[in-house]
Amino acid sequence: MKGIFPVDRFAAMDTPFYYYDTDLLRDTLRAINAEVGRHDGFVMHYAIKANANPKVLNVICQAGLGADCVSGGEIRASLQSGFSPRKIVYAGVGKSDWEIDLGLEKGIFCFNVESVAELEVINERARLLGKTAPVAFRINPDVGAHTHSNITTGLAENKFGIAMRDMVSTIELALQMSNIRFIGLHFHIGSQILNMGDFAALCNRINDLQRQLELLRIKVEHINVGGGLGVDYEHPNRVPLPDFKSYFDTFSRHLQLRPGQQLHFELGRAVVAQCGSLITRCLYVKEGAVKRFAIVDAGMSDLIRPALYQAYHKIENISSEAPTETYDVVGPICESSDVFGKSVDLNATHRGDFIAIRSAGAYGEIMASVYNCRPLPRGYIKEDF
Ligand SMILES: *Cc1c(COP(=O)(O)O)cnc(C)c1O
Repeated sequence: MKGIFPVDRFAAMDTPFYYYDTDLLRDTLRAINAEVGRHDGFVMHYAIKANANPKVLNVICQAGLGADCVSGGEIRASLQSGFSPRKIVYAGVGKSDWEIDLGLEKGIFCFNVESVAELEVINERARLLGKTAPVAFRINPDVGAHTHSNITTGLAENKFGIAMRDMVSTIELALQMSNIRFIGLHFHIGSQILNMGDFAALCNRINDLQRQLELLRIKVEHINVGGGLGVDYEHPNRVPLPDFKSYFDTFSRHLQLRPGQQLHFELGRAVVAQCGSLITRCLYVKEGAVKRFAIVDAGMSDLIRPALYQAYHKIENISSEAPTETYDVVGPICESSDVFGKSVDLNATHRGDFIAIRSAGAYGEIMASVYNCRPLPRGYIKEDF
């Protein structure tokens, strides 16, 4: 599978950098659009926070997806990449006044509101600007996701969303407000979810909530179920596309949409994770007292997922066909957690070899920092080579 990288062209490049296989990205988007197209009323947004590289955003925008933003900066990035404001949804527990104003001025599709305090501020900002804010409430469904505890968001103990018991009173409050238009409900239960039962549980919860609102004759135009579909980090070559069919079928089967209702999705990781790799050079091979280290020129400042979430990434030496040896693959940063993988079997590795850290397209480049005063990694797409 080394063939997927233009390794010869890499020789002239400074490392580390992110490489995005835009053919795979386009295949992924085609697969999403094909599945979405099979279901009436399904609408797809891309969660900008997974990867906001302008070249990547461009490809996604061209495929017709909307944008799911969690900050004013992301709203700006989406607009710059060509997303229509009419396709932008904006979530987040802590929206600043300038971010709310930006969304109002640009006329975004929906604010996903997470508290009464925020609702009051949005109503007031909208009044000052002479606008009406379209609002959906993010409800905390108290549904667990079988994923890493740092990336569950839909449990009652998490900071996100409005408690279910406050849903009706919050909507009734919104319906009284002069500059708010209530349009729907929003949910997001977590990330890297591979168990479709978690999404089915969310659907059942939404069905209960919809029945409550129906009894009160409260009309809900839009249901937004967030993102969270996971990818196969173990087998990026064998399973480059997530199981979109099962994912969308789960919602189709379990969620009881009302006539005319639209169902919105906000996938991030599932769109971009597999198309991206962090490309790094081996600087040194060091025989430690009990281990052999491949020290590479990328560090946790370039890709923090292993240090932050104990995340697994497949690592490959894309310069060597030699028999494998076992290495701990580590970066240059002064932290013991600056480790990309322990006991990794790599083709025998030498200084100068290119190492690809796979499935790094989501929550990779966008989470890079300048820790240790390191430059930020660049991002290139296939067409750049
Ligand atoms: C992070 C996030 C997403 C995307 O999550 P993925 O796991 O990358 O699909 C979608 N919606 C909201 C509100 C989010 O915060």
